[in-house]
Amino acid sequence: MTLPPKILIVGGGVFGLSTALSLSKRHPTSQVTVLEASATIPNPAGSSVDTSRIVRADYSSPVYAKLAADAIEKWRNTEWGQEGRYTQNGLLLVYPDGDSNGKDYALKSYHNVKKLEGKNVELLPSQEDVLRAGPAFGPNLGVSGGYVNWGSGWSDAEAGVRFAKKQLDEDGKVRFQTGEVQSLLHGADKRTVTGVVLADGTTVTADLVVLATGAWSTKLIDLRGRAVSTGQALAYMHITDEEQTRLAHMPTILNFATGMFILPPRNNLLKIACHAYGYINPKTVPVPGANGKSMTVSFPEPDLPIPAREEHEFRMALKQLVPELADRPFCKTRVCWYTDTPKGDFIITHHPDHPGLFVATGGSGHGYKFFPVLGDKIVDAMEGSLDKELREMWAWPTPVDEATFHGTEDGSRSGPKGLKLKEEIAKGKKAQRASSL
Ligand SMILES: Cc1cc2nc3c(=O)[nH]c(=O)nc-3n(C[C@H](O)[C@H](O)[C@H](O)COP(=O)(O)OP(=O)(O)OC[C@H]3O[C@@H](n4cnc5c(N)ncnc54)[C@H](O)[C@@H]3O)c2cc1C
Repeated sequence: MTLPPKILIVGGGVFGLSTALSLSKRHPTSQVTVLEASATIPNPAGSSVDTSRIVRADYSSPVYAKLAADAIEKWRNTEWGQEGRYTQNGLLLVYPDGDSNGKDYALKSYHNVKKLEGKNVELLPSQEDVLRAGPAFGPNLGVSGGYVNWGSGWSDAEAGVRFAKKQLDEDGKVRFQTGEVQSLLHGADKRTVTGVVLADGTTVTADLVVLATGAWSTKLIDLRGRAVSTGQALAYMHITDEEQTRLAHMPTILNFATGMFILPPRNNLLKIACHAYGYINPKTVPVPGANGKSMTVSFPEPDLPIPAREEHEFRMALKQLVPELADRPFCKTRVCWYTDTPKGDFIITHHPDHPGLFVATGGSGHGYKFFPVLGDKIVDAMEGSLDKELREMWAWPTPVDEATFHGTEDGSRSGPKGLKLKEEIAKGKKAQRASSL
């Protein structure tokens, strides 16, 4: 399929920028614009922008494991990983006693990654073995096994976005525009998408609109039962020079029991996070394109604190993993948003009901690592030449029951499901007030 000349990409995160990079190489005569709501790229509130993202080929699905291995090759051996954008420190994946989902995910992922990484990967069938690979994580670590992959690493996520933007600026083929899309613009048939309407009422027209708006997509198109935006808590703390030196080379640890993970610190800043079902933030908004109808969907809201329960969980995890930091105050917290699909598969496809609209989203908390290779796959999908396996995985999904869909079910998530962010924040405030009375 040949691509039309005028292409508008909405969203300047991993999905949007990687698409722009690929289009600028493969379709240099196309007129490509990236439209981004944030005044800056990197957008500090975007899901692609943070101190770090894990880069791993550790997947229970062989298709993602292979794609991740291709991406890792680029992080390791090309400009993508240079100037501190990629560090290979290893990843220690552990599961607790009795967590059959976590164990199953870990073992499948071990077998896939073992084929790709060979000697870099070691099975750790007991707690003793886990502690041998990660002695920093003391004997209180409540795990019964796992494995370590010394071939995994992490990326400085903000630096990666900055790098992609710089490539595009230097190349000069893609135009950038700041503006917030309010809705899609439809043709006379009310189906074909012909551009977008911005918050200031102006319009931008295009032959093809690529929606790469991450967790904000849920109010621009009807994704009910197909994608849900879930807020994930992050916390950061300052550490001393001595702690920085000691912890800088530890492997990232991801505990399937709690979802907690700690990345090696950089610039005296340590981050702790949780790969969980997270929190929903329900809002009632108009159903896009359906006059007068409304729907309740979860989507991001800026500058919310993390719930007190999450701070407590972080403290518990630190007590287990790096006890000397357990009581250190956090200097910053943040809620960062996943765009979760039922099985964790991205949605990268032409919209079945709206000619002129292409959807590239559904990162499901694992999209960042693919930055160096994702754009080519997205453009393959736009052209209709994507490999069969990926095409089937990333097709427009059959919706699941919204009432029970609280996040990706791929065996890697932990924690309670369907917690409402603002309710949980309020509970913490109430408890604080009660304890000060
Ligand atoms: C806490 C956290 C931890 C993660 N950890 C990992 C990890 O360890 N490894 C990994 O591989 N992946 C990880 N991920 C997932 C990965 O970061 C995401 O899959 C990826 O960054 C999503 O990119 P995106 O382009 O879809 O979204 P974004 O980066 O959010 O980009 C979307 C952009 O669209 C813009 N936009 C939205 N609405 C509009 C509008 N109406 N008009 C104009 N612009 C708009 C936004 O401003 C935003 O900049 C993590 C994600 C989070 C949140």
